[in-house]
Amino acid sequence: MSAEDEKIAPTNFIRNIIQDDLDSAKHQAIQTRFPPEPNGYLHIGHAKSICLNFGIAEDFAGKCNLRFDDTNPEKEDIEYVNAIIDDVKWLKFDWDKLQYSSDYFQPLYDYAIELIKQGKAYVDSLSAEEIREYRGTLTEPGKASPDRNRSIEENLDLFARMRAGEFEDGKYLLRAKIDMASPNINMRDPALYRIKKAHHQRTGDDWPIYPMYDYTHCISDAIEEITHSLCTLEFEDHRPLYDWVLDEVKTPAHPRQIEFARLQLKYTITSKRKLNQLVIDNHVDGWDDPRMPTISGLRRRGYTPESIRDFCNRIGVTKKDSFIEVAVLENSIREDLNERAVRVMGVLRPLKVTIKNYPDGQVEELTAKNHPQKEEMGTRSINFSKVIYIERDDFMEDAPKKFFRLSVGREVRLRYAYYITCTDFVKDDNGEVIELICSYDPETKGGSSPDGRKVKGTIHWVSAEHAIDAQVNLYDRLFTHPNPASTEDFSEHLNPESLTVLENCKLEPALADARIDTHYQFERTGYFIKDSKADNLMFNRTVTLRDTWAKLDKQNQ
Ligand code: ATP
Ligand code: MG
Repeated sequence: MSAEDEKIAPTNFIRNIIQDDLDSAKHQAIQTRFPPEPNGYLHIGHAKSICLNFGIAEDFAGKCNLRFDDTNPEKEDIEYVNAIIDDVKWLKFDWDKLQYSSDYFQPLYDYAIELIKQGKAYVDSLSAEEIREYRGTLTEPGKASPDRNRSIEENLDLFARMRAGEFEDGKYLLRAKIDMASPNINMRDPALYRIKKAHHQRTGDDWPIYPMYDYTHCISDAIEEITHSLCTLEFEDHRPLYDWVLDEVKTPAHPRQIEFARLQLKYTITSKRKLNQLVIDNHVDGWDDPRMPTISGLRRRGYTPESIRDFCNRIGVTKKDSFIEVAVLENSIREDLNERAVRVMGVLRPLKVTIKNYPDGQVEELTAKNHPQKEEMGTRSINFSKVIYIERDDFMEDAPKKFFRLSVGREVRLRYAYYITCTDFVKDDNGEVIELICSYDPETKGGSSPDGRKVKGTIHWVSAEHAIDAQVNLYDRLFTHPNPASTEDFSEHLNPESLTVLENCKLEPALADARIDTHYQFERTGYFIKDSKADNLMFNRTVTLRDTWAKLDKQNQ
């Protein structure tokens, strides 16, 4: 990112804590980590955590690790690992170390033995059902398992045999011995290890037992000497356990866990599990469907890393749950694309226009700016000829008085070209207008009239002879419900109009060579990017422009 693009993240309560810890010399250097579980693709919520963890490391001259929290082998996959790596890189963040929780399976096991030796952990034979029963409720204390007082020797022996693969899944658990009467249910002898004879994508069949999240996470943080372990609010009640484990085992550091509110975006789902469901049920075309709130979906839709980082700065970091409007995300991308997008003309719903008094066979090369303010982005030439296409919407048979576009007898400016006046139109057998007949004023070349005559509307167009055909995909929000995750079946709230496919769009010929990393503004219709997967020429609309026409038209109806 160039210096001028870079926006300093606004401060927040976590940054304040870190600044204090540096000022008081509690820490000489800051170490954070981003710890995704590789069980799906990253979504916009993860971007918040990425921007926070990596952003802090960047701004405080610290380091941030990327750590795959890979302790649920059945749900995890190398495909997800690779996708996550791509996404973090794409967001233009660099990690210090790339780690996996599975790198720590041996030390985690050794620490567990240490806990057993101290009488702080025991092997329990209760079934999952019984454990739930014994756990108690928010109002009732739990009760001790009969195995709670198993001897240390016996625990050591059973745990070694669990590790050796002697028992079937579910036969035993290793549990921490904390307090079955704790008001915090997480402290009622939580599980540390379970038996699971599952193949792991990295450790293969080495381990028939896998450590639980709460046990793994704090120790992994400690081994990496993380100074501030930033996580979302649902882990607040797990913090006593995080601290308990680190107090009981001798790790090189005791990181501080700090919680912040998850990003919740209206009309969107931010849960890998639920997004996976959309993919499995074919409601979308894969994890990177441009309607998905995944980083890969946003990328394919035409979002830039800068816009996502800007969005994360704008929403800030607090301890209060709230919903963010989709418009906040859209404004971030609009502002960014307004700066960088190359302007072109493309007609999405073409209507043929014949300019009666324009010489047959004549082609003029007109000069168009690639950006209205940025001279350095240069110009291009576009061809003008007798037959052109304009947007269907730019003509109305019975136009209200203040419709400033075409209708019989009305004059409009063709962007970069001439004033034209509609004189007639042709309908097909169904009564649909299929062609406009217009005349042009040769004196208005370049878009102004020597007699000072003003026209209010300027419309875009392409020369029919020169235009290329393309498919354009327009997107709307994926859900019609502002909080689909709160509903019984979120798939009932899918928006049937989330995708509009326009197959016969007419574009400037230069777009035949569009690159997948170039952002375009199709004048008046939005920002677009070439689809990165399609075999045919296909463009995805990233976001609409602020629609001044809609506003104008509304005022006049
Ligand atoms: P999901 O339910 O989507 O799987 P998760 O929290 O289980 O979410 P992880 O892979 O464990 O996903 O997340 C990695 C990191 O990203 C965690 O620190 C987590 O707190 C954070 N994170 C996940 N979702 C959000 C969100 N919506 N807003 C902010 N941070 C998030
Ligand atoms: Mg998770």
